[in-house]
Amino acid sequence: MNKESSLAQGREYLAIPGPSVIPDVVLQAMHRPAPNIYAGALVEMTHSIVPDLKRVARTEHYVAMYISNGHGAWEAALSNVLSPGETVYVPSTGRFGLGWADMARGLGIETRVQDFGKAGPFDLEKVRETLSADKGHEIKAVLATHVDTSSSVRNDIAGLRRVLDETGHPALLMVDCIASLGCDPFEMDEWGVDVMVAGCQKGLMVPPGMSFVFFNDKADAVQAQMPRVSRYWDWTPRAKPKEFYQHFGGTAPTHHLYGLRAALDLIHEEGVEKVWARHERLARAIWAACDAWSSEGPLRLNITDPGLRSHAVTALQLGAPHGTALRDWLSSQVGLTLGIGLGMAEPGDPAWHGFFRLGHMGHINGQMIMGLLGGIEAGMCALDIPHGSGALGAAAAVIAGR
Ligand SMILES: *Cc1c(COP(=O)(O)O)cnc(C)c1O
Repeated sequence: MNKESSLAQGREYLAIPGPSVIPDVVLQAMHRPAPNIYAGALVEMTHSIVPDLKRVARTEHYVAMYISNGHGAWEAALSNVLSPGETVYVPSTGRFGLGWADMARGLGIETRVQDFGKAGPFDLEKVRETLSADKGHEIKAVLATHVDTSSSVRNDIAGLRRVLDETGHPALLMVDCIASLGCDPFEMDEWGVDVMVAGCQKGLMVPPGMSFVFFNDKADAVQAQMPRVSRYWDWTPRAKPKEFYQHFGGTAPTHHLYGLRAALDLIHEEGVEKVWARHERLARAIWAACDAWSSEGPLRLNITDPGLRSHAVTALQLGAPHGTALRDWLSSQVGLTLGIGLGMAEPGDPAWHGFFRLGHMGHINGQMIMGLLGGIEAGMCALDIPHGSGALGAAAAVIAGR
């Protein structure tokens, strides 16, 4: 970060939608000598991590852990249940559904993408039409993104399960919860999700480097019928290891495991439902401020219906060049980094400079969100970006419970 101003000294705040703020207890847990990977504390601790991860995902079934980012989890999930030439259906919103579809294409999987655009969720009636039309059940899996991190829309996963059931379609329901796990309410078993992918660096508050594929018995039965599964991505030894090293297909991510243990302790000491409620309240404070700012001037929330907004990330439009100018001003002048706009315009297009995003996932609290909003207000004043008044008061009222 380029600190041009002395007001940027002090602790920096990275408010991008992943990686998220790392709690001190996570950093401290990782700061230690290399542990033995064959016996002792690390092995015991890993056994304790598995049930605690499943409690966050709200599943009684299985989890496979990988040393990878979210893209690796995408590939891992696909590799276990889909063969080249098989077909997936991707009701895509924003950018991340397209990314998962592209990963599938790279594996030789046929993709049927239905693009629902950048400013809203998938339309369950259109999804129903697509599934109903697939009489021969060529579609083997539906790939859905719970929270699309580019548009900040939250899709209705329980509704998608309902549509699959009502159309009698047997496809696996596979969900990307990389942005939402530990932020937005998600119920893997209750909602009938067969495969779910997550990463460690967003709601789970650990530096990037681990990812997870959760799966149920239906998905596991499909996996058992696969003619061939990549040895490295194969979830069976990872989820049901006979020897400890099988958890990771080789050396364990030693320090990440210590960090993850500390992060799961934070989540379960607070309680998963309370974690969700905290994210909702803080998101509502952000929206209240944005509503006030947008009453005059160019600021717009990308998702207009609050019921469809993620509680973990907010995509905003300010018009070029204000988006980039605001981000630059905040990082250089007050030590606050906002996320770039993603998928709304291509880099190189002047319009690209009109978009930005706020990450509010994981280790965040009321004073941080007030600081985030206060910083933005200062930036808009400094840059003469027109905006409505009363934003900080509106956010404070939400945090105060008024
Ligand atoms: C961040 C993110 C990804 C990609 O994760 P990486 O760790 O960057 O590979 C995929 N899907 C969603 C919804 C995300 O938010």
